[in-house]
Amino acid sequence: MRVRFAPSPTGFLHVGGARTALFNWLLARQSGGTFVLRIEDTDRARSSEAMTDAILRGLEWLGIDRDEGPFFQSNRVGEHTAAGRKLLAGGHAYRDFSTPEELARDRANIASLAGEATRAARRRAEALAPGEAEERAEAREPHAVRFLVPEGSTEWEDAVHGPMRFRNRDIDDLVILRADGSPTYNLAVVCDDAHARIDMVLRGDDHLSNTPKQILLARALGFPVPRFGHVPLILGRDGKRLSKRHGATDIAEYRRDILPEAMVNFLALLGWSPGDDREVMELDEIVRRFSLKRILRKGSVFDADKLAWLNGRHLSRMDLARLGSLVTARMAQLPQTAEAAAQDRPGWYDGLLDLLRTRARSLDALARNVSLYLPGEIAYEPKAVRKHWKRRAQVGEYLDALRRRLEGCEWHPEPLERALRDLAEELEVGAGRLIHPLRVALTGQAVSPGIFDVLYYLGRDLSLDRIGRALETLAVEEAMPQVGSVGRTAPA
Ligand code: GLU
Repeated sequence: MRVRFAPSPTGFLHVGGARTALFNWLLARQSGGTFVLRIEDTDRARSSEAMTDAILRGLEWLGIDRDEGPFFQSNRVGEHTAAGRKLLAGGHAYRDFSTPEELARDRANIASLAGEATRAARRRAEALAPGEAEERAEAREPHAVRFLVPEGSTEWEDAVHGPMRFRNRDIDDLVILRADGSPTYNLAVVCDDAHARIDMVLRGDDHLSNTPKQILLARALGFPVPRFGHVPLILGRDGKRLSKRHGATDIAEYRRDILPEAMVNFLALLGWSPGDDREVMELDEIVRRFSLKRILRKGSVFDADKLAWLNGRHLSRMDLARLGSLVTARMAQLPQTAEAAAQDRPGWYDGLLDLLRTRARSLDALARNVSLYLPGEIAYEPKAVRKHWKRRAQVGEYLDALRRRLEGCEWHPEPLERALRDLAEELEVGAGRLIHPLRVALTGQAVSPGIFDVLYYLGRDLSLDRIGRALETLAVEEAMPQVGSVGRTAPA
């Protein structure tokens, strides 16, 4: 199976484009076929090298590697033009000398044709005297070349939608060579697909109306007609076509937070279903199970929560060493800080990542959480403060007692837990009365992994230091209750 992805570099790699690329790539990989990348850059004014680069980088990030290409459509303009001339010579096309006014009139009349294509240009061409078109062309009179759409209908068995049929009388005699001689999109695609021996064209539903034109052109040129499949659009939650209004549509915008394997997993499920309720899948499983038959016929909704959830699932199961380097690259602190913190605590960093990743849904958030365990200021969440530091004098007393108790403690989760529970018993309070304020002191937050793991991974010095700072903050707030809100940030 030879398939292709043929993006136009007039924009970044869009979520929909990435999905099209992925589906084609999956077909190639599971059939031992060939995945061809063709950059359709013939619209020079709107195409740019930066966009081409962005597309290449996006595909690379997703792990969608290519077997052939990138080929650039603009390199084959000569061949496209020759094909247009061949159609003209073979009687499959005609010269159209319509004036701009005539064309404007045709367009205005289209409404009255009730959906049928206009044949006005064809009629004007037919009205010319024999040999007149050639004479005027030789005299360099500007004109376009139009494809002569034959009678009848055009049918194909769509790999997604099943039997498709278009009446040819609904298809305009499309321009294949513009007045400046340049070939148009449909002609270029047909030539390039034939040249690359593509046998399956899988692309978005938005190309459905191009397909009968491309089939007719391929036949007229004597090219083999590939199979076609059209994947339904990706929709926003409101059921409308996915656009920037719904959130980021540029794949690059997800790179900071999302793992490529989660993105690929998510894109695969956008319009395809494995047939059971399995959702979290590695690439090799997707490659094995992907099938055209299970591409859904209706549009699928881009659900950002599901993407975050899938990301969390992949974060929890991926290789720790790789996760470590991804997280380090996203940390505000220099990676050396993490290394220094890990010194004389073998396995510290991996253990911490493993502890934190079970509740993480984004790489960025995970990096921020990891940072909490490194030396540096933490901010107290106002909500956590309101909830767990309400009775400040008492909280201060408890934390002070805790600090003294923990100071002499062996720094491991079990002895730390014993020390805290003993103290709670002595104070005749539930352990939660110590744990919740302590959590705010250590992390600034109301939720965290188990508090004894938090203490352990922070280490003795940092833990005691943070409790000390919490006590300072509480004392400051105590002395000047009228100043500002309670402990919005740690003191400088
Ligand atoms: N270049 C076209 C696009 O970006 C795709 C052409 C095709 O897949 O046939 O939408």
